[in-house]
Amino acid sequence: MSLNKINITSEDFLMISNIVDGLYHPVTKLTSENDYKTIIESCRMGENRDIWPFPMNIRTEGKITGSDIELYFEENHVATIRNSNCFEVNIDYEVHCIFGTNDKSHPGVEKYLNSGTWCLSGDIELYKPFKHLIPGRTFTPKETKLIFKEWGWEKIVGFQTRNPIHRAHEYLIKCSLENADGVFINPLVGWQKADDIPHATRHLTYQETLKYFPEERATLGYFPSKMFYAGPREALYHAICRRNYGCTHFIVGRDHAGVGGFYGTYEAQEFVSKFEEDLGIEILKYEHAFWCTICGGMASGKTCPHGKEEKVFLSGTEVRRRLENDEEIPEEFSRHGVVKILRESS
Ligand SMILES: [Zn+2]
Repeated sequence: MSLNKINITSEDFLMISNIVDGLYHPVTKLTSENDYKTIIESCRMGENRDIWPFPMNIRTEGKITGSDIELYFEENHVATIRNSNCFEVNIDYEVHCIFGTNDKSHPGVEKYLNSGTWCLSGDIELYKPFKHLIPGRTFTPKETKLIFKEWGWEKIVGFQTRNPIHRAHEYLIKCSLENADGVFINPLVGWQKADDIPHATRHLTYQETLKYFPEERATLGYFPSKMFYAGPREALYHAICRRNYGCTHFIVGRDHAGVGGFYGTYEAQEFVSKFEEDLGIEILKYEHAFWCTICGGMASGKTCPHGKEEKVFLSGTEVRRRLENDEEIPEEFSRHGVVKILRESS
C-alpha cells in the first residue's frame, strides 16, 4: 500500500462533502476514467447510463501516485481517497464538451482551464464535513426530505437562483405554487463571478422575499455549489440536485445558468427536456415575466398581448447602474424592501 498527501481547495472539499451527503446521487465517489469520458460526451455514467453532467474529480497539475491519498484542507486531514487512480485529460476537449465554447472571456471556461489537467478518482472516506458559507440554512438531502415530510408536502417545486429575487421570479414561483404544496427556494451559495451579488446581501433579500409567501408553503435553504455558468448542462445539474433534495418539480427559466450571449434563450430548456423521461423530476419551463401597465399586474408573453412599451422590466446591468447612481427602481420591478437592502450594501 502506498500513501500520498495533498492539499485541496475549499471547492474540492465542498464537492466531496456533497457527494457523501447524497446531493450528487447517483455519484458516490470521484469519477473514474471510464465515467469521465461518457459524462463529458453524453452526460451519462456507469452501467445504468445514469444522467450526470459534470465529472467530479480533484484536479492536480501533475500525476498523484499511491492507492490511498490523504486530503488536507487548511492543515486538517479531512478525507482519504481509497483505491485511487490519477489520469490525465485533454482539458480543451473537456471544456468544449461542457461549455460548448473554449472562449476565455466566458467566466466558467476561464476558471475551468486553470483547474489542472490530472484527475484524481477513487472512493471517499470523509472525516470532517465542509463548513457551509451560510450555516443553519444549508441542508443535506436527508434533512430536506424530512422537512418536506413534516410540512406534509408532496408536490414540491425547487427554485434555483444566483441573484436576488425580483418580481419576475417571484411571479414564476407563485405561478408554480398555485399548483403545488410547497416551494423550496434554493439559491446557490458558492463560487460566483466577481460582479454577482455577494451571498450575505442576497441572504437578506431572500428573507425579505419570504414575507410575500405563506410561511407554511415556502422554505429557504441554500444550494452549496459553485456556479459553472455552463447554461444547458448546468440546468441539468441543478435539476438533478433538486430531485435529490426531494423536489418533484424544478423551474427552468430562459437562459438558465447562462452568461453573456453564450447560450440561446431556450437552449437550457430544450437540453433538459431531452433527459426528462428518466430524470425523476418534472421541469417547469417559463418565459420571462414582467409587470404590464395595461394588464395592471405581472404577466408574460404567454398571458399578455400588450406592447414592449407597457412592460416594466430592467436587465441586471440596468439594476446595477441604477443602484450605483442612486436612481429609482420601480416597485413593479422589485419590492421596496429588496431594493433597500441592495442599496444599503452597494
Ligand atoms: Zn398586458
